[in-house]
Amino acid sequence: MAIRNVVIIGSGCAGHTAALYSARANLQPLVLEGHEPGGQLSLTTLVENFPGFPEGIQGPELIANMRRQAERFGAEYQLAHVTSADLSKAPFTLQVGRETVQTRTLIIASGASARWLGLPSEQALIGHGVSSCATCDGFFFSGKDIAVIGGGDSAMEEALFLTRFATKVSLIHRRDEFRASKIMLERAQQHPKINFITGTVVEEVNDPSKKEVTGLALRNVNNGKAWELPVSAMFLGIGHIPNAKIFDGQLDMDQDGYLKTTNYVFTKVPGVYACGDVQDRRYRQAITAAGSGCMAALEVEKFLEEHGTK
Ligand code: NAP
Repeated sequence: MAIRNVVIIGSGCAGHTAALYSARANLQPLVLEGHEPGGQLSLTTLVENFPGFPEGIQGPELIANMRRQAERFGAEYQLAHVTSADLSKAPFTLQVGRETVQTRTLIIASGASARWLGLPSEQALIGHGVSSCATCDGFFFSGKDIAVIGGGDSAMEEALFLTRFATKVSLIHRRDEFRASKIMLERAQQHPKINFITGTVVEEVNDPSKKEVTGLALRNVNNGKAWELPVSAMFLGIGHIPNAKIFDGQLDMDQDGYLKTTNYVFTKVPGVYACGDVQDRRYRQAITAAGSGCMAALEVEKFLEEHGTK
């Protein structure tokens, strides 16, 4: 079996950028696209904060462009999901379905998946009023009433951010106690545009048949009362799940499963780098993911110069 110079796990912004740089360094990268090809950008609509597109660009188009650009320089893409990895010795071994892939270096760009409520009506309206990214999509709901779901810091941050656009933000949380830090919670509670609805769950997002969000069917878990809250958008702030489970026990992770890196992209295994949202719980932006993908590819290039590609 031929040993690859570099395999990239993940095909979001970080993965495509790593592929572009390593392809241009003649390393013939193999990109294993993962179970959410294109990453989170493929779930958004207009992206207005990626520099270089003064009028904005659709998320799926931006990600398709990145891929075409990497392919032009010889990056190879495979629609596949890595099921296990052995990083204990070089070359590293990846199990991809029935296939085994060996590689001298590895770039982990597998991202973090937004946590969703899991309602079919919610899934049907992603990109049509349902979003997991206030920074990306908040602007589209200027002058509208918006709901934010969650009781942690992410939900508080999203709710506060969305007050710039919304006439009213309803923060809906399933319990009466909050996980959010005191300071963030107080800031949100004191904001005149934010209305707290606690002890309440979302049972349905209306209305998939109209292809837009018109309101939320809610239920108070304490008294069972069901009612509808009219809103034009629902933002999820219920956390992210880093896609790093297969490296459990092999790479260092924080308490929530994000990969720990030093000097931006180094893991504790020489030749294995991590970039993008799988190692970044702080910025989580397309442009920062792309930047760290670039860094990982440059480190791969240096590593292979020192250790050889044969
Ligand atoms: P988190 O602290 O885990 O909070 C997630 C929230 O979502 C919880 O309130 C949880 O409810 C709720 N939730 C989870 N699954 C749900 C479901 N299926 N239905 C309804 N609600 C659900 O996550 P996070 O807010 O993303 O924060 C993650 C970490 O990043 C934290 O350490 C946080 O401090 C940090 N962070 C910091 C900042 C900042 O300092 N600026 C900003 C963002 C995040 P329960 O409470 O009932 O479990």
